[in-house]
Amino acid sequence: MANHEEQFKKLIAHAKEYGFIFPSSEIYDGLAAVYDYGQYGVELKNNIRQYWWKSMVQMHENIVGIDSAIFMHPTIWKASGHVDAFNDPMIDNKDSKKRYRADVLIEDYCAKIEDKINKEIEKAEKRFGDSFDREQFVTTNPRVLEYQRKITDTLHRMNAGLENNLADVKALIEELEIACPISGSRNWTDIRQFNLMFSTQIGSLSEEANTIYLRPETAQGIFVNFLNVQKTSRMKVPFGIAQTGKAFRNEIVARQFVFRMREFEQMEMQFFVRPGTEIEWFEYWKKVRMEWHQSLGIPAEKFRFHDHEKLSHYANAATDIQFEFLFGFKELEGIHSRTDFDLKQHQEFSGKKMQYFDPELNESYIPYVVETSIGLDRTCLAMLSYAYNEEVLDDGSTRVVMKLPPILAPYKIAILPLVKKDGMPEKAREIMDTLKQDFMCQYDEKDAIGRRYRRQDAIGTPFCITVDTQTLEDNTVTIRYRDSMQQDRIAISEIANVVRKNFVSLHNI
Ligand code: ATP
Repeated sequence: MANHEEQFKKLIAHAKEYGFIFPSSEIYDGLAAVYDYGQYGVELKNNIRQYWWKSMVQMHENIVGIDSAIFMHPTIWKASGHVDAFNDPMIDNKDSKKRYRADVLIEDYCAKIEDKINKEIEKAEKRFGDSFDREQFVTTNPRVLEYQRKITDTLHRMNAGLENNLADVKALIEELEIACPISGSRNWTDIRQFNLMFSTQIGSLSEEANTIYLRPETAQGIFVNFLNVQKTSRMKVPFGIAQTGKAFRNEIVARQFVFRMREFEQMEMQFFVRPGTEIEWFEYWKKVRMEWHQSLGIPAEKFRFHDHEKLSHYANAATDIQFEFLFGFKELEGIHSRTDFDLKQHQEFSGKKMQYFDPELNESYIPYVVETSIGLDRTCLAMLSYAYNEEVLDDGSTRVVMKLPPILAPYKIAILPLVKKDGMPEKAREIMDTLKQDFMCQYDEKDAIGRRYRRQDAIGTPFCITVDTQTLEDNTVTIRYRDSMQQDRIAISEIANVVRKNFVSLHNI
């Protein structure tokens, strides 16, 4: 773990040093859990958003997008349940004065038990070698079974306590002897519920000012526009509405970089289906979304599903797609079968019918909804953590290389004249002019070529094009591949093809 912490610190430092992500308001010592994206970060973020949007909206004839406002009528948050129930259980350590989420303390405790299980598996793997049957081991080894029972039992008790009585959750923390990671003490306050919504005032002083909320999710903007979109697009159930945009949550514990922010961006899609078919669609979207994550070349074992035992008030099935961050497996995306809860609530609170007339069934109903909800910043973090590599090269030197999937890399091509004379810069500029309309290109003529390659490695540019004397003679260039560092000689006219060939095809997902 120490190694992972070290690695995580290096990643955060790299993200800052190379213009991916800066702490917000840094010259004023920052603002907790708020971050700014720099010149490379914004490209990465835009590329992820666009990859998501294309695969959801462009590739699905029955999904359209919208962009609803962040400010919405305050009654929406009453109807959705956020005013009354969008709470986290908060607990303070009296000695360190640090604040925690009670459920996270318990989940971290369970993650430690899971580490023990993994150690047992590793040990057994070594002992049995090729004949090791993992499945059999985890289902029969008494120690592993005992650990698993402990996890299930603990989470079950926690969920029951969160639902019924917070004092039981505190008792559980005490019984498990969970200590504050900072002070090491077990001197805890009682647990209190804390509403995560930010509020502000709308209207000038002379008018009657009203409290409104900064949206804590983009989904409600979709629900309240459901009929507008359905009618104007003449969509038939099943169909979906997608949206990306900022969401705000006053998170109790804001650590772990852009994993948990107070202002962040979501990419959500609400899929409206016939009542009774929602579980089928839930399974469908689970599969499709997992394929989307794996389409980018990150190994499958870095992702897993985590089905919810405790369901939110609106859901009848829910799962998370978790990613193995440097601090363990954590939620990256949520897939929820939200029933007809939201539309029904809005129908009740607004007094407007939220029904759909199904021409095939010849009847009206409130559709059921399956939602896919992914954090854009968390996806950036997943990408950066996976991509960050420190490599020792054959000559003993080291390089830091961001192995971002080419389609997501901030810059696709670096164009480098070998030397700053003999017509090479002019030729390089000429090549850049033909490519920059289609690809983000960066021109660099400063320093030795090796150092320029390293700079591009550090920001994840997948292709470096070097212009040399031969280029001036026969219109060929050297293309250097970031990951293999291999170099090939190709015609200038071939560059765009080679680059495109390395992009993921949306047809595969
Ligand atoms: P968590 O349990 O980690 O707080 P959640 O279950 O509340 O997350 P959802 O309400 O399902 O999250 O939100 C959907 C997605 O939005 C999450 O999977 C995550 O990627 C992203 N997200 C939620 N809260 C934050 C946050 N504070 N900072 C960054 N991303 C977030």
